Amino acid sequence: MNNFEQSCPVCSGSDALNKFSWGEYPVIHCNQCGLDYCSQMVEKESGGNSSPVHLEGIEMMANAFHKTNELATQYARRRINIYESILKRKCQNILEIGCGPGVFYKPYKQESIQWDGIEINSYWKDFGEKNNIPISDKPLELVEKTYDVIMAHQVIEHVEDPLAFMRSIVSRLKPGGIIHLELPNQNSLTARLRRISSKLSFDYGFIQPPMHLRAYRKQTIKHLFRQFDLYSKMVIDCGNTDGIWGQVRDYNLFQKSFYSFAGKIGLGSLLIGLAQYSGD
Ligand SMILES: [Zn+2]
Repeated sequence: MNNFEQSCPVCSGSDALNKFSWGEYPVIHCNQCGLDYCSQMVEKESGGNSSPVHLEGIEMMANAFHKTNELATQYARRRINIYESILKRKCQNILEIGCGPGVFYKPYKQESIQWDGIEINSYWKDFGEKNNIPISDKPLELVEKTYDVIMAHQVIEHVEDPLAFMRSIVSRLKPGGIIHLELPNQNSLTARLRRISSKLSFDYGFIQPPMHLRAYRKQTIKHLFRQFDLYSKMVIDCGNTDGIWGQVRDYNLFQKSFYSFAGKIGLGSLLIGLAQYSGD
């Protein structure tokens, strides 16, 4: 069993761990890869090894689904161009881990790309059945196909053991295939504001017990990629409203302005990592 009290979940380093308390809970910062984390994951998603997602977030995404189709279509078109320029071939299939409502199913279908979504939360499987979107509750470990692109948006920060998660992804990539991660950026303006004082913020940046117990920076993602046969193609931070890598959400005007400002000054809330599998 892993003991993350003694070694970092991302770089496995044990010499550079800085332990401290933030208000009511202990946090560990790894000076080697830049990960912030809590070693104990007390509450878990049923049937999984990840921390749970708030019901509010789920309902927000379900409501936004019907409003954001056009946005998802724009993102999908722009991303296909980038995926295919890396693949140097046509992208035939995509697996989305933790796909939520499956906003990318129709946009990719329109481009003749087969999209498969898996989701541990049973809410979304039912949602998929009602809306004709093929969402499966199959765990990643039981997925038998291989893919040109495997995307995981807002997932890895919930995962207790990121190295095991990455191994499962890499073994399902075709040669030359792409992993596309999107996650909260621990160096963002939002995260920095939430690290000023535990009297002002219960959250330590994007450490948000019990849902987020791992918080990543750009260098953490690079460390993660380096440990597999993955060639890092792009590790950037950007605003939630970025024209290519932004989130499919129905943001209000205040949120749009804030996110766009944070993105412009290089302190955007999203971290995007794209890497290509070099093995076979
Ligand atoms: Zn580390």
